[in-house]
Amino acid sequence: MNKFMRFMQGRYGFDTLNGFLFVLALLVHIANIFVWGYIPSIVLYVVSTALMGWAIFRSLSRNINMRSRENRIFRKAYDPVKKWALFRIRKFRERKDFKYIKCPACKAQLRVKNQKGQHGVRCPKCRYEFKVKI
Ligand SMILES: [Zn+2]
Repeated sequence: MNKFMRFMQGRYGFDTLNGFLFVLALLVHIANIFVWGYIPSIVLYVVSTALMGWAIFRSLSRNINMRSRENRIFRKAYDPVKKWALFRIRKFRERKDFKYIKCPACKAQLRVKNQKGQHGVRCPKCRYEFKVKI
């Protein structure tokens, strides 16, 4: 076991919330480059340092229960946003080959080939069959 691993033993370490805090701190830090004026620059500096400090504090914390509870609460808000964003990206990437439609019965998102004409579709989730025109 090396020195770092021994140091981190019993400490919380890294999680999704810490990753988010690091990225946010970095973005605020970068935004600071484009900000003119003494006061706004100091404010952004303090914010980015505080975010970085919070992430470091969480990583080194020995109160593992509390830190994982924070992460669980954060993930409840973060995961749906991430899922939505990844879906938008996928939809955009596949926009030439596939169309996304909603099942009229259960509202599930279905992906159909982007070919002109009438198609028979069966929802894999609820087995409802319907026709769709592209
Ligand atoms: Zn359905």
